[in-house]
Amino acid sequence: MKLICIGRNYAKHIEELDNERPENPVVFMKPDSAILLKKQPFFIPEFSNDVHHEVEILIKIKKIGKYIEKQFAHKYYDEVGLGIDFTARDLQSKLKAKGLPWEKAKAFDGAAVIGQWLPKTQFKNVDNIGFSLQINGQTVQEGNTSHMLWKIDEIIEYVSKYFTLKIGDIIFTGTPAGVGPVKPNDQMIGLIGDQEMFKIKVK
Ligand code: ZN
Repeated sequence: MKLICIGRNYAKHIEELDNERPENPVVFMKPDSAILLKKQPFFIPEFSNDVHHEVEILIKIKKIGKYIEKQFAHKYYDEVGLGIDFTARDLQSKLKAKGLPWEKAKAFDGAAVIGQWLPKTQFKNVDNIGFSLQINGQTVQEGNTSHMLWKIDEIIEYVSKYFTLKIGDIIFTGTPAGVGPVKPNDQMIGLIGDQEMFKIKVK
């Protein structure tokens, strides 16, 4: 399975990193070795002094598909989750400046947190899901899928032009504003509404 990630999908997050608003979705991937194992702490890798949290809504693909049209995209997933796209921001900034791929900064071991899954039927509208991230009891990121530049079904349409979507593939749909560094002993809790989706410790 693969993890397909969307970058720069919330206007306020684009501003906070001083990025350009893209014409098309920014797409990158993480290998399955990036998935943080259940109940394990996240270890800050030795090659970075500035690992940022990016809380994101996740979509789990349930059906194989290629060139999926937007109006049929909803048939390709029925679970919604929450996760973290951990990013070694210092390394990513160096790679971006040189026009190099981001994998070392985004796809390292443990860089993908995948929380529990909720049935899509739990939501009236997947384009209006509120979510947040707390660190040590403080809310640091808050978002709503209504603020996405590319909505979930548009993301599925776009990425499936390039990659065949397979059962179990997971899409990270981009992070809202409020990204920032994590430090040892941080306790992170991700929420959809007020439902806890994951809880992890940083080491
Ligand atoms: Zn991200």
